[in-house]
Amino acid sequence: MYTDLKDQLTAELAEIEQAGTFKHERIISTPQSGRITAAPMGRGGTEVLNFCANNYLGLADHPDLVAAAKKALDDRGFGMASVRFICGTQDLHLQLEREVSAFLGTEETILFSSCFDANGAVFEPLFGKDDAIISDALNHASLIDGIRLSKAARYRYRNADLEDLRAQLEATRAQNDGAGARRTIIVTDGVFSMDGYLAPLPGICDLADEYGALVMVDDSHAVGFMGATGAGTPEHFGVSERVDIYTGTFGKALGGASGGYVSARAEIVAMLRQKGRPYLFSNSLAPAIVAATLTALELVAGSAELRTKLFDNAELFRRRMSEEDFELLPGEHAIVPVMFGDAALAGKVADAMLDNGVFVTAFSYPVVPQGKARIRVQLSAAHTEADVEAAVQAFVASRAAVQG
Ligand SMILES: *Cc1c(COP(=O)(O)O)cnc(C)c1O
Repeated sequence: MYTDLKDQLTAELAEIEQAGTFKHERIISTPQSGRITAAPMGRGGTEVLNFCANNYLGLADHPDLVAAAKKALDDRGFGMASVRFICGTQDLHLQLEREVSAFLGTEETILFSSCFDANGAVFEPLFGKDDAIISDALNHASLIDGIRLSKAARYRYRNADLEDLRAQLEATRAQNDGAGARRTIIVTDGVFSMDGYLAPLPGICDLADEYGALVMVDDSHAVGFMGATGAGTPEHFGVSERVDIYTGTFGKALGGASGGYVSARAEIVAMLRQKGRPYLFSNSLAPAIVAATLTALELVAGSAELRTKLFDNAELFRRRMSEEDFELLPGEHAIVPVMFGDAALAGKVADAMLDNGVFVTAFSYPVVPQGKARIRVQLSAAHTEADVEAAVQAFVASRAAVQG
């Protein structure tokens, strides 16, 4: 039996390789940090600066988080060996749920193994065939998959385009024989990760009010550092109260291990505890992760220092790269796309960057539009000013090396 499939897969894998879209992994042999030792498969490791992690606040190897995780290993053991509703809930899990709610200013929070699972859980129990889900065209894959699991009518609007969002809201009125959708929700990423652009939340909330729709924001690329207290893009835009459902990850700024959440109005969370399938049928977060994430939230709530450092680094990088005549997408986020247009050129520059001691990744079609190939740089509070300047110098040298 397997012989046929083996041949087919071998051919398909060869096609991916030929198309230049095969994902090769680089092996890191140090903790995730601003400086890592990384190697392509089979080659020796070299120390490089890391400018492509979601480690925005530099917490991935922070000593306080590591200590909290070690203490939890001693006090609460390694694993829960259960889903939450059978015997997988420790006091720590409830404490983290309370702390996330307090941090975001929401009523209740429910934990998941990942934000991918949170987005997979949230739609199916709340939205059925009489309902409408309106999704930004550039939303994260996990939102797209989660929405597919529900029986609701699906609508899509052009990225961050409020006119098109209005048109989709209008279209929901035809549902249910012209009675309109029973429940309507607008779903958006808080930050679009390929561009570093923020969703236009004030306009989205205004339209939601006008049409009686709910608003959901997946703030994975913002929670912990956007907004005055780090509560994310809704806080940044002053619309925190107007967002009904937040999802996010602990796997980026907040320590970078794993875990995600839905944080929302009380009844919404109560229903997800009863019916959210990834909650009911997948294991509890490990206590060490829960404890370290609590420490991450404490650090973020206790001081703006890391957020300030992150944005200072982003601003410095944007300024210096502009001075060196690189084309950047404008913005304020710590994601800074350096535009090359041509896919092969972006790939060659990224390879040269590694030779120049800086780890970055090139993205091209179909991940970004045709002709918009780029190197996506991500700043971190773990970087020093000297690290940022070294990255700029590496870009200058790599461009010169590739263009000859
Ligand atoms: C990273 C990301 C996720 C996935 O988070 P995990 O916790 O790693 O599953 C979901 N949504 C968005 C917008 C993300 O950027």
